[in-house]
Amino acid sequence: MQSVKPRLVPCPKCGTLAPFSPENPYRPFCSERCRTDDLASWAEERYRIEGNDPPEIQPPPLD
Ligand SMILES: [Zn+2]
Repeated sequence: MQSVKPRLVPCPKCGTLAPFSPENPYRPFCSERCRTDDLASWAEERYRIEGNDPPEIQPPPLD
């Protein structure tokens, strides 16, 4: 039987080589921590940008 080595890709967060395969549910990250950190920082950045120019949302007048 032929053994297939999973392709190793560098984690976008910390650069650690992690297997890019179904065995790694956090691909392309190396771990849950790196994936969570990256998503958190991305969300934070987005929130900050939106926070600089908050849209004025007026509720519709109740009549
Ligand atoms: Zn990592």
